[in-house]
Amino acid sequence: MSKDLAAYAKKNGIKYFMISYTDLFGGQRAKLVPAQAIAGMQKDGAGFAGFATWLDLTPAHPDMLAVPDPDSVIQLPWKKDVAWLASNCVMDDQLVAQAPRNVLNRLIGEAADAGLRVKTGIEGEFFLLSPDGSQISDQYDTAEKPCYDQQAVMRRYDVIAEICDHMLDLGWGPYQNDHEDANGQFEMNWEFDDALATADKHSFFKFMVKSIAEKHGLRATFMPKPIEGLTGNGCHAHISVWDKSGKTNVFATKKGGDGPTGEVGLSEQGKHFLGGIMKHASALAAITNPTVNSYKRINAPRTTSGATWAPNSVTWTGNNRTHMVRVPGPGRFELRLPDGAANPYLLQAVIIAAGLDGIRSKADPGKRYDIDMYADGHKVKGAPKLPLNLLDALREYDKDKALKSAMGNDFSDAYLKLKHQEWNSFVSHFSKWEHDNTLDI
Ligand SMILES: [Mg+2]
Repeated sequence: MSKDLAAYAKKNGIKYFMISYTDLFGGQRAKLVPAQAIAGMQKDGAGFAGFATWLDLTPAHPDMLAVPDPDSVIQLPWKKDVAWLASNCVMDDQLVAQAPRNVLNRLIGEAADAGLRVKTGIEGEFFLLSPDGSQISDQYDTAEKPCYDQQAVMRRYDVIAEICDHMLDLGWGPYQNDHEDANGQFEMNWEFDDALATADKHSFFKFMVKSIAEKHGLRATFMPKPIEGLTGNGCHAHISVWDKSGKTNVFATKKGGDGPTGEVGLSEQGKHFLGGIMKHASALAAITNPTVNSYKRINAPRTTSGATWAPNSVTWTGNNRTHMVRVPGPGRFELRLPDGAANPYLLQAVIIAAGLDGIRSKADPGKRYDIDMYADGHKVKGAPKLPLNLLDALREYDKDKALKSAMGNDFSDAYLKLKHQEWNSFVSHFSKWEHDNTLDI
């Protein structure tokens, strides 16, 4: 039997539950429900007006109900009266097909039908900015190469340690924190887990980082490229696939096996899963790099630190960070494409969708390039370039019938519709660049 939330409230002194769901843009929306009302909400869900949900529903739709998943409950470490709950979206007694957590759950089910369990970890990168978001918050953080800067990370010790302490208390197994490659940028890492657990933690992490930063009079952002000229916020995903028990890594084989994947320690299944990611890379960028700003991070000119740390071509390699996919050791690989704007649920979903399609179609990831892509990328012939902007990515996604149907056609239609609206809104705004460059033409 699943957790009784009313009993949980009594035991933990919870006054309010935050019943939260994630919309198609990756935004978290919630209702605060007093503990006295949680028993009914646990059964029936909290009601939201369809049109306002950003799930591509109209004003005429009935209420969308966010039914909390009791296993996801987290008592806010910084506000113990409140507990957060991830929810599954339901309408007319049916799961809302396009809702991100439902898309992920369906794909996890498909993987399970194939006897597979996908486990992932993500790297949480963010900037700490001034409250108005216009500049980095630490005036002394000006080094040209600030990665791992000891003084700068200690000037933000109170924020970073508070977040890390909370992750320790929550049992996430955090293991390192650092100042990242851009001024004002930090990264925090915790243990990998099943894809759904990672997606829930990823969502909560963003909420927690923003909340703790606000408490300290700062503003945290996961925006892919919040400051021009500096390295952007990636959200690298580390992917491995296990058997049903979760005990045997089915991607792993001894290093030095056959072919370019076997040599770096990927099994046949690992090879094909990677093949699926490579095959669908240009299309899945519409999910992993979902905003206009995302394309300022990939395909970026060199940053002030000397490297962007972001890919621009669809290539893979061994333990080398200059490619889209890195295989750091046997049994797992790192997808370096996603950025901080990626929807936590759709990110995991699209990895599983592309990977399972790769396994089904026995996709070949192609040649392994063991070169420095930043220095010698121009020598690679035939590797597709990643989309140059959101519109190109949406078009690639729209063309990729296999990926669209693997993600669910209801989802894909809704996502493309709302994202095209976003693109149209962007291109119809009058920019300073136009004024500066074409006024006197
Ligand atoms: Mg990093």
